[in-house]
Order: sequence, then C-alpha cells, then structure tokens
Amino acid sequence: PRLTNQIAAGEVVERPASVTKELLENAIDAGSRRIELDVEQGGARLIKVRDDGVGIGEEDLPLALARHATSKIESLEDLEGVNSLGFRGEALASISSVSRLELISNASDDPRDGWRVVAEGRSMEARVTPAPHPRGTSVSVRDLFFNTPARRKFLRAEKTEFAHVEEAFRRQALSRYDIAWVLRHNQKTVHQLPPGDSPAARERRIASLLGKNFIEHARFIEREAGALRLSGWVGLPTHSRAQADQQYFFVNGRVVRDRLVAHAVRQAYRDVLYNGRHPVFVLYLDLDPDVVDVNVHPTKHEVRFRDGRMVHDFLYSSLHHCLAHTQP
Ligand code: ADP
Ligand code: MG
Repeated sequence: PRLTNQIAAGEVVERPASVTKELLENAIDAGSRRIELDVEQGGARLIKVRDDGVGIGEEDLPLALARHATSKIESLEDLEGVNSLGFRGEALASISSVSRLELISNASDDPRDGWRVVAEGRSMEARVTPAPHPRGTSVSVRDLFFNTPARRKFLRAEKTEFAHVEEAFRRQALSRYDIAWVLRHNQKTVHQLPPGDSPAARERRIASLLGKNFIEHARFIEREAGALRLSGWVGLPTHSRAQADQQYFFVNGRVVRDRLVAHAVRQAYRDVLYNGRHPVFVLYLDLDPDVVDVNVHPTKHEVRFRDGRMVHDFLYSSLHHCLAHTQP
C-alpha cells in the first residue's frame, strides 16, 4: 500500500485509443515478437490484442486484473530505474471496471494449455477456466463504457475514434522495429508490418505508416555526443502538404511530447529558414537512464532531463547541421 500510494494514480481510460496504448504496452513488456490488434467500430465494440509473449500463469491470471497488482516492480528502488512501459498495475483493473474484459493466456509451451478469466464492470467471475492458447496472451475489451453511459456518450464517430487508435498503434510500431505488428479494423487489414531493424526495413515501415511522401522527402540523421545519441528521419517540408501531426520523438524507446524537445526542433527549422513550415520527423534520442527521468507523468508522455540545457543544445545543433546541409 505504501508503494501504491507513491505511484501516481492516473486516469488511464479515456477512450479506445488509451485502452489500445495500455494493451500494446503490456504486450511489448511481455517480450512479444508479434502483436496483433483487432478493432471493431473504432474500438467502441471491441479492442483485442493478441501477443506471443511470456504469458500469464493460471494463479496469476486473476491477479492481473486486481488493482495495483504489477509483476514489474518489487520495491520502491525499482521505481527509480524502471524500464518496462507499465509499472503501476492499474491499467487492466481500470479497463475492466468500464468494459467486458476477457483475458486468455498461456505461459507454457504446450498450445493445449491456457486459462481464461472474465470481468464485467465491477464484478469479476472468480473462476479461471481452461482455454487453449499458444504461448502468449489475448486480451479482449468489449463494449467500452457500457456501464457508464455518460462517458460512452462522449465517444466520437467511429472514424475519429479509429484515427486515435491507429495513432496509438503507429507510435508503438515506430518504437519497436524488431516486433511484427498487425492492425485490423472491422476485419480489414489496415497495417501489416514485418519485423526488421535494418535502415531499409525501417524506412519501409515508416513509409507504410506515414506515407511514401514522408520518407521520400526525409533525410537520415545520426549524431552522437557523449552519453547522447540521436538518429532518425527529418522531414523536409518541400511542399505545404506536410502534416503537422507527423512529429514523433522517442526517448529511450518511449514516445514523448516534450516542450524542451519541441522548442529545440522548432528553433532549428526556423533558423535554417523553414519558417512557417511544419517540422515533420521521426527521431530517436537515446541516453543513459541515469540522465533522464521518464516517470514524471502517469501517462508518461513527458520526461524530465537532468541536464535539459545540454539535451536542448545537442538536439538543436544536430538538427541545424542536418537541415542546413539540405536544400529544400
Ligand atoms: P502494469 O503494466 O502497470 O504492471 P497492468 O494492469 O497493465 O499493469 O497489467 C497488470 C499485470 O498483468 C502486469 O504487471 C503483468 O504481470 C500482467 N500482464 C498484463 N498484460 C500482459 C500480457 N500481454 N502478457 C503478460 N502479462 C501481462
Ligand atoms: Mg500495463
């Protein structure tokens, strides 16, 4: 309890996209090589994630749905250097309280094994029943907000909710090239991304997620300075159709929206006279976890750099250098 009090309790379930994010992060944390996301009616009817990760054993299955049950940290000290995406143990509990959730998992190599547990709103069926499943986990979230009509009413049109779900998927897929990803909406395949870590494979993935246009007008960047390493693609907005929202910045593999980062990027673009154009980029900053604090905000989109000035200057000079040597 002491530990849970010190972990900021955040509102994790806002819309289908936030559920998607949590389920995909769990699948990544489980060490999956392949992750499939199935969505129906923009996620309002179904959000299903199937992975081939470590799975959850029979005894642990009900625990996974209990509030503040996490298998990822064991002490307050762990909070300091946490490198899993989840660590608060409240996502599945929160999601299951506002949906019909089914969890099927198998932690063994025998595909005839596997167990299932269901929860509907506040009530959880105590029984864990056998359900064959290959090693890994399937989580199905049906009828989100079925028991909270006021919140269900806030869901937007199917198209809008799906756009947010797809964006959540995109961010995860751009963070792990070694994982195979699939996204289907209403049984139609929207993205099918084979694994591959080579620059060419990465470019193919970016092209299918962000469009050929982005990668054709992007420049590869790779810079290193001390404990800081920046790599990725900087879009060259040669035309006004560059999309304002194609801005992806990952710090140690986590997608981040950060003011310091945004400022450094904007300033670099401005100073090489890309003024008034939208910077578009997919950038990866890797640094020593001792230098960056990633647990500032419950939704974990913000970071705190111990030496913000140094990070800012490194970003600015790297991008400035890259942009200045490219004609728009
Ligand atoms: P957290 O990710 O913060 O630990 P969650 O509520 O998201 O909390 O998940 C609770 C627990 O359920 C996790 O700590 C993990 O042990 C287990 N779990 C959830 N999803 C998966 C999955 N896809 N594969 C394996 N274990 C999972
Ligand atoms: Mg989690």
